[in-house]
Amino acid sequence: MKKRIPKINSVIAVSIGLVSCEAVGELEKKDSMDKLVKTDTEWKEVLTDEQFYVTRQAGTERAFSGEYWNHKEKGLYACVCCGSKLFRSDAKFDSGCGWPSYFEPVSERAITERRDISHGMIRTEVTCTRCDAHLGHVFRDGPPPTGLRYCINSTSIRFCDLADKKNAE
Ligand SMILES: [Zn+2]
Repeated sequence: MKKRIPKINSVIAVSIGLVSCEAVGELEKKDSMDKLVKTDTEWKEVLTDEQFYVTRQAGTERAFSGEYWNHKEKGLYACVCCGSKLFRSDAKFDSGCGWPSYFEPVSERAITERRDISHGMIRTEVTCTRCDAHLGHVFRDGPPPTGLRYCINSTSIRFCDLADKKNAE
């Protein structure tokens, strides 16, 4: 029988290593680049099968199947594994490719890029710097000002609505 994961609140989330949106600010103040390392078994306890496949095994969700490819609300997108802030809605654009696309991350430190030669292609893989979650790939066919397209799996990220935050302007 599959164990149900309790609804995440910041207290439970921190204790099991998953950080809620509300805790993201605190994390940033502390040191968001403290590496978070877990075994596959530990990740499986806190992620769904699909989240584990995409983030820990560099999987890809089907185009137009994810939660965020057509998501237009204002807020932040955080890593589904560790809660590290990754992208702002301001940098999201409609690429037509079926995955959420951004022209820049919240900061260069938030993400790590590396050469990926899998599937007979030369691409640049994008991972979460804090926990090494696979996020997607970056391509050089994006809009100004960067000309980049960070093509990200919805499964790898979690939207945090700024309107929910009392301190948000
Ligand atoms: Zn992460």
